[in-house]
Amino acid sequence: MSDEANKTTAEDEKLKTPSNFIKDIINEDMRTNKHDGRINTRFPPEPNGYLHIGHAKSICLNFGLAKEYNGVTNLRFDDTNPCKEETEYVESIKEDVSWLGFDWQDREFFASDYFGQIYEWAIKLIKMEKAYVCDLTADEIRQHRGTLKEPGMESPYRYRPVEENLDLFARMKKGEFPDGSRTLRAKIDMASPNLNMRDPVLYRILHAEHHRTGNEWCIYPMYDFAHGQSDSIERITHSICTLEFEDHRPLYDWFCDTLEIFHPQQIEFARLNITYTVLSKRRLLQLVQEEHVESWDDPRMPTISGLRRRGYTAEAIRNFAERVGVSKAESMVDLALLEFCVRENLNKTAHRVMAVLNPLKVTIVNYPDGQEEMMEFVNNPENPDDGTRLVPFAKEIYIERTDFMEDPPKKFYRLSIGREVRLRWAYVIKCVDVVKDPNTGEVIELLCEYDPLTKGGNTPDGRRIQGTIHWLSVKHAQELEVRLYDNLFMKENPNEVEEGKTYLDNINPDSLSIIRAKVEPSLRSAKPGEKYQFERLGYFCVDSKHSKPNEPVFNRTVTLRDTWAKIAAK
Ligand code: ATP
Ligand code: MG
Repeated sequence: MSDEANKTTAEDEKLKTPSNFIKDIINEDMRTNKHDGRINTRFPPEPNGYLHIGHAKSICLNFGLAKEYNGVTNLRFDDTNPCKEETEYVESIKEDVSWLGFDWQDREFFASDYFGQIYEWAIKLIKMEKAYVCDLTADEIRQHRGTLKEPGMESPYRYRPVEENLDLFARMKKGEFPDGSRTLRAKIDMASPNLNMRDPVLYRILHAEHHRTGNEWCIYPMYDFAHGQSDSIERITHSICTLEFEDHRPLYDWFCDTLEIFHPQQIEFARLNITYTVLSKRRLLQLVQEEHVESWDDPRMPTISGLRRRGYTAEAIRNFAERVGVSKAESMVDLALLEFCVRENLNKTAHRVMAVLNPLKVTIVNYPDGQEEMMEFVNNPENPDDGTRLVPFAKEIYIERTDFMEDPPKKFYRLSIGREVRLRWAYVIKCVDVVKDPNTGEVIELLCEYDPLTKGGNTPDGRRIQGTIHWLSVKHAQELEVRLYDNLFMKENPNEVEEGKTYLDNINPDSLSIIRAKVEPSLRSAKPGEKYQFERLGYFCVDSKHSKPNEPVFNRTVTLRDTWAKIAAK
């Protein structure tokens, strides 16, 4: 390579993510030319559920590293368990990885494509006297395994002759034996301090239809006998996984070394945990099946599809993954950081519009009857190129009920009798009286006066107006459905439960409220997926499932309150 080609530009430097222990390993491998400078990572989901934000971290890490080192990333479905896997999950996983902005090109693989090769390797181990057919039941195998303190007991079938093993294994494959009656086990070391090395099961009998191989097989390799070899077949250089596989690494190493096949390097990192959130496919499946949520892509779910429906952008999720970083230590990330990332992203792109969630009518008593004016609104103060739009103003408007107080504290800078407030991009108004419900005494309408000299919200006399509130013309406002969300779980760590309870007891019964809100006329035709900032109320996204033409339903993605800044400052 010429010097010119080798030179990193400032632009390249910017693309680089901060250093971490995985990059240190890769840098060293590059320096020693370990794989001829080749980097091939993979993302290996089991297609037994939808991907969640924890998977997003792994996706960003694997694809991100490959991109940074000019390598490639495989998408491999680890589909060794026929009972729990479905094509629907495969499709959703592909959609989510693409949506996050990553491209596996033609490197889409399935562990099930390797069943033939893995079977051959099993036979090779039998011939090497490194594997045997065992007639113990699953329970008996467990009892023989021993504990961390005590060594295990050898199976009575451990020293079966090679010929007998080959015959039995072939007959297992032919379907001669019922489920669970026999297994193929590796012959390693029943006294190993690592339980994974105590003659682990390699194959079990399962007369079950597989989503890809159908009824071709009735024996299936265990995850541990398939994962490492799949990495090896694909010549993965760096097999990045979560910490729970650290204890399995000696086993994967044993398989690669014994079979004398390409040896990927496994690197473990701590999985992502987020406050108020459950990140386990098994639990997320339970939430769906027991109808605690509407579906896998319910906007309250931490799934990638749920976050997308809620209004999260791929960029926000990628930024989050980067900020969280990678480490070897388990930790809990504050949900506020995820929310901060989407707010930061949408702030740059979302148009500001007005909506009133809980309306209170205001009549501007000195405004001419029947008059209407168009007020010019800036679409996005962060981006002047986004231009302006016109919003109708009239004598009767709605404001947010919470923007009026009959008996306000001193620092309440919104409306109360005798106080002035600015209507966003319109006029300064002053509350002169209220109308009350004669039965309940509740304020049902405000009577205000406007100052005609303050059009656009300016005060030519220079007087200071502290508060600015949003509003809508009663005549023009549209009523649409808005969905407001709270955390799905009430506890910071939902998995932490008291005696006799389960994490399901930590579900927040008020995580969803569906209301009819008043919105600007322009929002009537909003399309699924479009994102807006409702001034002062948060970011909202048009729901992709419940919206109908001219009847959009809005999901609140996040409020505008930034709690992350406070936490970060601590
Ligand atoms: P779950 O525990 O949610 O069922 P899993 O690990 O069983 O997840 P897989 O489909 O096996 O799900 O995961 C695919 C990849 O995503 C694996 O490499 C796994 O390590 C990674 N992954 C899963 N959950 C997390 C997480 N919370 N943080 C980071 N990476 C994760
Ligand atoms: Mg897993």
